[in-house]
Amino acid sequence: MNTRADTGANTGADTQATKGANGIEIENLNVWFGEHEDRVDAVRDASLCVPEGGSFGLVGESGSGKSTILRALTGLVPTWSGRMAVLGRDLGRRRDREFYRSVQMVFQDPYASLHPRQSVDQVLGETLSLHGFHDIDRRINKLLDDVGLGPAFRFRYPHQLSGGQRQRVAIARALAPEPRILLLDEPTSALDVSVQAEILNLLVDLRAERGLTYLMVSHNLAVVGHMCSDVAVMQLGEIVETLPVEDMRAGRTTHPYTRHLLQASLGEMAAGA
Ligand code: ADP
Ligand code: MG
Repeated sequence: MNTRADTGANTGADTQATKGANGIEIENLNVWFGEHEDRVDAVRDASLCVPEGGSFGLVGESGSGKSTILRALTGLVPTWSGRMAVLGRDLGRRRDREFYRSVQMVFQDPYASLHPRQSVDQVLGETLSLHGFHDIDRRINKLLDDVGLGPAFRFRYPHQLSGGQRQRVAIARALAPEPRILLLDEPTSALDVSVQAEILNLLVDLRAERGLTYLMVSHNLAVVGHMCSDVAVMQLGEIVETLPVEDMRAGRTTHPYTRHLLQASLGEMAAGA
């Protein structure tokens, strides 16, 4: 898919140095929690690759290790082995400033991820100044516009927003440092069904406009089918199958667990879930 012919060009600004590199590469990743008899092997020998500008889904039932992969990437879990690279740079134990600018995460629950006593203006303003931007006023208005919220929302507090509007603010906050990669952990599962599609469509548009790379976790195959070009299916900490989304849609799967998930999701759709 991607050649690595440009690996010698790793000097200078990142945007130049990593052109043509993969967005995210994970090889033989193991992640565990606790030790000895308390040890939980949350992810075992997982490998995946998301080309820059690509969109990749991780599906599987609750507890299968999906969020743990995202958390390990962002440096939130120190106990891992294997290889992880972002935009052509291998990740070590610590993440640098450039990482925290270029990789942003959107969480499932916008109620929990926004501080109740911070207005939208404060959330976005603080994020922007943390990342060293100066034209904060202009950028806040632009970000609100980019996520489909007008300037009227700028001085609201989270309790004055609907779930969908909160998630738009969380997405604006993620976009504030001008990232190149978004890690999306069930970004619509806490929302009413009626607003899920709106938020997914916003995410689709943002990726197209900005050439963002998405790694998206969902337990919902329809969501991944809408958003992603490739999907990895996880079961009990392992990736059991990786396939193009068209194959998933057409039922061209090789692993019985993928088939099981597909049947379960068809059942849910038939039941109107
Ligand atoms: P998913 O996102 O697919 O629902 P997770 O990645 O959250 O699954 O969890 C995978 C496994 O790791 C589960 O068995 C979970 O209980 C365990 N786990 C996750 N976080 C921790 C933690 N901080 N300490 C101990 N076990 C954890
Ligand atoms: Mg999870």
